[in-house]
Amino acid sequence: MATLRGLRTTPQCFSRAIFHYSKGQKRFLCLSKQANSQLAFVSSEYNEIYKRSIEDPDKFWGELASTRLQWIKPFTEVMDCDMNVGKHRWFMDGLLNVSENCLDRHVNRSPESVALIWEKDEPGTHETVTYRELLKMTCQLANTLKNHGVKKGDRVCIYLPNCPLAVATMLACSRIGAAHNVVFAGFSAEALASRITDAGAEVVITADQGVRGGKTIDLKRTVDEAVSKCSGVRHVFVMSRTGADVPMGKKDISLEKAMSEESAECAVEPMNSEDMLFLLYTSGSTGKPKGIQHSQAGYLLYTNLTFQHVFGYEPGDIFSCVADIGWITGHSYVVYGPLSNGATSVLFESIPTYPDPGRYWETVQRLKINQFYGAPTAIRLLLKYEVDWVKKYDRSSLRVLGTVGEPINADAWHWYNEVVGEKRCTVVDTWWQTETGGIFIAPRPSADNSTPKPEFATRPFFGVEPVLLDSEGVELHGNNVSGNLCIRGSVPSMARTVYGDHRRYLETYYTTFPGYYFTGDGALRDKDGHYRITGRVDDVINISGHRLGTAEIEDALDNHPDVAESAVVGFPHDIKGEGIYAYVTLKEHALITPEDLRLQLKKLVKKEIGSFAAPEIIQVAPGLPKTRSGKIMRRILRKVAANEFEDLGDVSTLAEPSVVEGIVNEHKKLI
Ligand code: ATP
Ligand code: MG
Repeated sequence: MATLRGLRTTPQCFSRAIFHYSKGQKRFLCLSKQANSQLAFVSSEYNEIYKRSIEDPDKFWGELASTRLQWIKPFTEVMDCDMNVGKHRWFMDGLLNVSENCLDRHVNRSPESVALIWEKDEPGTHETVTYRELLKMTCQLANTLKNHGVKKGDRVCIYLPNCPLAVATMLACSRIGAAHNVVFAGFSAEALASRITDAGAEVVITADQGVRGGKTIDLKRTVDEAVSKCSGVRHVFVMSRTGADVPMGKKDISLEKAMSEESAECAVEPMNSEDMLFLLYTSGSTGKPKGIQHSQAGYLLYTNLTFQHVFGYEPGDIFSCVADIGWITGHSYVVYGPLSNGATSVLFESIPTYPDPGRYWETVQRLKINQFYGAPTAIRLLLKYEVDWVKKYDRSSLRVLGTVGEPINADAWHWYNEVVGEKRCTVVDTWWQTETGGIFIAPRPSADNSTPKPEFATRPFFGVEPVLLDSEGVELHGNNVSGNLCIRGSVPSMARTVYGDHRRYLETYYTTFPGYYFTGDGALRDKDGHYRITGRVDDVINISGHRLGTAEIEDALDNHPDVAESAVVGFPHDIKGEGIYAYVTLKEHALITPEDLRLQLKKLVKKEIGSFAAPEIIQVAPGLPKTRSGKIMRRILRKVAANEFEDLGDVSTLAEPSVVEGIVNEHKKLI
């Protein structure tokens, strides 16, 4: 039986190493657990380390790469980057293998440490997988793929539920040098087919069915439909999740059966630092998803480092990121960050409200989770319910509460901090993107131990230099400024290209503001130099010359005790240029009439921001259109507000298309 603790052996230098500077001299220290955590999570030296990471990235990253990663052949040059042409090249000529870094080196030291705790959909049930077991599974899978013709550089499409075999599949690809393309196993056949085609994948790995929230999802049937549109697919491997009797065609192979015939050993493929590790499609909040391509060494190093220092991970901790592996958050903080550190990572297969809204906290109690990383959409959903759903479970193991994906409004932040964390935990609002590969802005690590500010992602991670530019591309210096959030200088984990469309990559990220990476988000730098993400730049509303971030107005609306969630968009207005249209959803037991609510909400916004920001139209919506990763799709709301129902753009990433019909109907009643 596996122990429920992580690595217990003496801390090893490669994963515990952190910079220590003294009198201008840089050196690595192997620190004791206690000293390490103090230095890492809250460090009086943060400012000094940060400064050096920006001034001398070559030294900073070079030393980290040689000590934290295991190389087959050392690199000869640290970086060759040019932001003018979107060029990022790190750790040149180096050879390594990502699966070896995530598995073998831990197995050699502590084979029975738990790598994964699979929190299954069925309430109260979990399974543990040790590093030894995960390596065996990975090798058998790697051999299976190899023996079915998968070679270095090939793309493999993964359409699986959150389960250990899915993680092993990702690692098996990296072991043999194939690139994985994980597609969230909730996407439609059409969305799946377009990703298989775009990636040119010849192999698809799926399951008979998935289970989420007690419902079964016919994954194999979706794959059959998708594959019928993709003539290039040669093999479909089918894992058994529920044991359902699914029809097997000529291309289909039982995954477990194929694996059982394979050896549990598989030599690793030496990969160049810059070879492709995976491609992953963005969430599609703003348009057609982009196939973001990531590298091997730079990505691995960055997720390895941020995992430890943003979350204050210490050996023995149980870390839980509840994202699906189909999103970048799952890639970086369920799989690569934790496993490269030898940590214990929880794989959450279910949803926050199954069987009831206490699911997360019951899991925290049962598994004794130390760091919990979730999304604002789930927090806003849970705060609709009685606090008892949280309070009845023991959450004393928790130290850090993370969030990612969207701006977290003040109301949700306080609920997370006070109700869930009992003001005892550190809330880390982490800003990053599929394209950045890892966390770029977060309250930790930091130089001070104070409670982070609500709504502020706060400060850049080592090596990340955020800049704010005005619409003309002029840099805004000093504090108390807001503008387009861009990044100066390369960071090892940044996307290398949009798969098969380098032009789109350059146009999207490097041409708007030459010399910088443009994030597409707006941000404010406050008097203390801390960053607050104000939303997508495209979502900024311009009312009679006032430029307003949607997050600010939504924040005011969310303060109303009956409002669960809100989304604000602009719509064409004859006099003001743009008017404000707010969509709000109500908490479970709200009794207020829509008329009273509208009056009270307008008053609230006038008081908190100013009368110019009061919404013209307020729709009490049946729900909000969201991507399958839970983000509000404001572009659809904008179209509805502008009466453009006919052309809603790419809706393939919409989680519940029926919501759109509901809001269109409500809209028609209002105008
Ligand atoms: P697409 O690029 O296809 O439109 P997307 O941008 O939603 O989709 P992701 O890469 O999953 O795809 O999301 C990154 C975006 O999520 C960021 O650009 C930002 O707008 C938002 N985001 C992520 N974390 C935060 C955060 N902590 N605070 C505010 N916004 C965040
Ligand atoms: Mg994006």
